[in-house]
Amino acid sequence: MYLIAGAGITGITVAERLAAHGEDVTIVEKRDHIGGNCYDYRTADGIFVQRYGPHIFHETDQSIVEYLSQFTDWLPYRHKVVALYRGEYYPIPINKTTISRFFGVDLEHEEAVRRFLAAKQVELDEVRTSRDVVLSKYGEELYEAFVRHYTKKQWDHYPEELDRSILERLPVRYDDNPYYFNDAFQALPGEGYTKMFERMVDHPRIRVVLDTDFADVTDRDSYEKTVFTGRIDQYYGFDLGELQYRCIDFRFETLNTEHFQPYPVVNYPGPEVEYTRCTEFKHFYGLDAPRTVILREYPSWEGEPSYPVINKANQERFQRYVERSRNETDVVFAGRSGRFRYLNMNQAVQEARDLATSLRSGASS
Ligand code: UDP
Repeated sequence: MYLIAGAGITGITVAERLAAHGEDVTIVEKRDHIGGNCYDYRTADGIFVQRYGPHIFHETDQSIVEYLSQFTDWLPYRHKVVALYRGEYYPIPINKTTISRFFGVDLEHEEAVRRFLAAKQVELDEVRTSRDVVLSKYGEELYEAFVRHYTKKQWDHYPEELDRSILERLPVRYDDNPYYFNDAFQALPGEGYTKMFERMVDHPRIRVVLDTDFADVTDRDSYEKTVFTGRIDQYYGFDLGELQYRCIDFRFETLNTEHFQPYPVVNYPGPEVEYTRCTEFKHFYGLDAPRTVILREYPSWEGEPSYPVINKANQERFQRYVERSRNETDVVFAGRSGRFRYLNMNQAVQEARDLATSLRSGASS
């Protein structure tokens, strides 16, 4: 019998895999819904709203797509993001169009973009931080306009204070491909993420208990193993210090207009507004409705932890928690919070499936 703390994508995937192999699983979730930060719902107008910000599924590994396809059909969707800078829209990730528009140059082909950028790129002996990543790819001006302030708002740290992996998430484009992701498969679950998760936990061996904090579970000892997908520092009562997780204050508005903005997500890279981006959900499922729902994201240190702040100090602290957890035989830590990793949904599914396999074989302790 397994106990899983957290009904997010990790907890649910582990539960589904264990139950499919004959194990009994109880999931406890402190919120009043499953799905973690992927949770979505439909408004009276039929608009799918993602309660914790935009989540687009993208994956190259066909086995993960096939796995999830047992629980959902898909709506093909290719995500577009632009940055609104000084009144003009610029494709993000930075591409040929962004560069041509920003510098007012006419770059005809990829080779011209490469040459133009090569003259801008800052040569560094070593790429250590997120700032180094961007300077060495794009140079100073694009860094200043599109990355520096956005990152400070998002993380409350400038890129030089963040691990290089954070800005390595943004690809470089020399062509005019306007799409956000590169993966072969990009889609949204046909009836939303929540429906997909409901089907995953719809199994006689899975019990889901909502509105319940793990700390209040009194019969923990009756489970042979716990999979903890919450914050590892919280599990240990913060006794080795607190890990930083950035939170988002999600502010929704329903507007009596058909459309608010011409793109699904508009990033605001400047310091003049406090929010990072604005999402208009109607673009996702392409719906006709007289109203529209928008979401502005205000990063904050209060609220539900969403983003592990990956930098040297936090990573060292996390390692100390990991050392400490090595002695545990009855609990494993998993997911974005438990592993202190900036995981995408597809990676979370992959890791959760691997974890379920190792739990069943007794390899993980
Ligand atoms: N970023 C930026 N400007 C942008 C978009 C992203 O500086 O217009 C930086 C920012 O630091 C952000 C990181 O790139 O946290 C990763 O962006 P991504 O869109 O992957 O973030 P997520 O969608 O996970 O919030």
